[in-house]
Formats: sequence, C-alpha cells, structure tokens
Amino acid sequence: MVKLTTRTGIDIRRTLPNARKRTIGAWCFVDHFGPTTQTESMAVAAHPHSGLQTATWLFEGEVEHRDSLGTSQRIRPGQLNLMTAGRGISHSEQGLKQSTNLHAVQLWIALPEEARQNPASFQQVTNVPEFSFDSIDVRLFVGTLGGHDSPAKVYTDLVGAELRIPTGKNGTIPVSSTHEHGILIVSGVALINGEVTPAENIQYFSPGISEIQIEALGEDSLLAVLLGGEPFDEEIVMWWNFIERTHDEIVAAREEWNSRGPRFGQFKDEIGGWTAAPELPNLILRPRKD
Ligand code: MN
Repeated sequence: MVKLTTRTGIDIRRTLPNARKRTIGAWCFVDHFGPTTQTESMAVAAHPHSGLQTATWLFEGEVEHRDSLGTSQRIRPGQLNLMTAGRGISHSEQGLKQSTNLHAVQLWIALPEEARQNPASFQQVTNVPEFSFDSIDVRLFVGTLGGHDSPAKVYTDLVGAELRIPTGKNGTIPVSSTHEHGILIVSGVALINGEVTPAENIQYFSPGISEIQIEALGEDSLLAVLLGGEPFDEEIVMWWNFIERTHDEIVAAREEWNSRGPRFGQFKDEIGGWTAAPELPNLILRPRKD
C-alpha cells in the first residue's frame, strides 16, 4: 500500500498498482480516500484521461463531477459515476461542504484495444443491484455476480461490488473460476478463505476458485470492495492520467493536453484552472503486463 498526499490535502491510499500486481482483471488503479470531515478539501482541478474508465463509488459524502462533455453530476453513496475516457476527456471533482464526512474509492478500468479510441462518454448508475450472500450485504456496481447484473457499461468481463458484514458474521460469495479477484478491506478486519486481512490491504486470488468466504473479525463491522475479472492480457503503458500502448502515444497525449488542444476538451467549474501534465521521465516507457 502506497500512501500519497496530494494537492487535495486528503491522504489517499493506493493499493493498486503495486510492485507485485499491476492489474486485477482490467482494474488497474485503486485509490481509497477518507473518511475525512474536510469534505471540501477534495478539489481536483481539470485534468485529462485516455484509454480508461474511472469508476467513482462513495461510502459517505457527496461529490460533484464536471467534464468536457458538458456533464455536471453529483454523486451520493449507492450510486456509481462511470466515466469512459476513450480517446480523451477532461474532468474535475469537488467534495461538497453540505456533507459531514467524505469517504470513497476511485477505481480505474483499462479499456481493451477495441474500445480505447472510442468517443468519451459518461454514465451515472443509480439502480445498482443490492442483495445478500448469507450475512454479506452486496451492492454490485459493475459486472455480474450471483445471477445479478449491474447496468454499468464496461468493455471486458469484470465484477466490482461493495461488501458490508456485521461484526462476527460471515458469508460465502460465489465467484467465476475464470476470473482473478481482489478484496480490498476498507475498514474492519476480515478472515478471507482462512486468512486474516487488515484494513488497507487487498487479498488477491488467482483464477480457479469458485467461492470466497469472508467473516468480519474484531469489534467493527466490515466494509470491503470485491474486484475481479478475466485477466487483462494486453500490454499497456500507464503514465500519469493516460493509458496507451506505446511511449509515443503517451508523448502525444501529454502534448495535446498541455497545449489545450481539442482532444481533451474544456469546461468551466468552480475550482478553476487546470492541471498540467508533468515532465516525462528521461527514459522510454515500455509496455508491460503483470
Ligand atoms: Mn480523474
């Protein structure tokens, strides 16, 4: 787990990518921020994305999203904001002061070759399936699980779900044996298929298992996020806010954003300004898989 302190002033814990694992399915980036009472300190000025989807999921609070498609959309707990960058989009995010706490994850999904150059789009999903496995309360924000389907539009075979378990309780989740999985413990302590997993850790499972048993240990209820999918076997170059396939594509994306060209669009918000891409490292970025 990498602890980042960003310009937003909020500590963000990044569990993916890490040195041992770059992707889980097409999930390629897991940031967990909050809980914090400094709800307005989350103010991320306009910045671009390419080649990925951002999935924003709140546990507490309220965030306003704006983007270069003209979208202005508030998100609350139980709703998914899914932004598909495709070839290019820019957006900003701001925590709203009327909420007393802000607590969320932001997840990135790598787009496969056949979708990565698509036009950008934005989807808010408010009818997220809610169901239970034994004492595990599930909100399925992406993909298919236990015969339920999320309406979120994704481009590879994926699953993403919030899990809540009261302390001392447990349950068994049926999972696809062709998927790899990770369970991010947001708060509490979990016993997962017999292994104790503390908060801010991801317990990883290779393909080949068909169920995951989880129990909430300790005094607090458990809050976790299940991420899974078909192993993503394309080689990608991930740099700053871009996912491309070659060094030259990264160079082009960076130059187009910093010159304020049309590829990433523009929009107005209350934060103001925009975030320039940093200097590229003095080396050639190589495509890689896990
Ligand atoms: Mn972003």
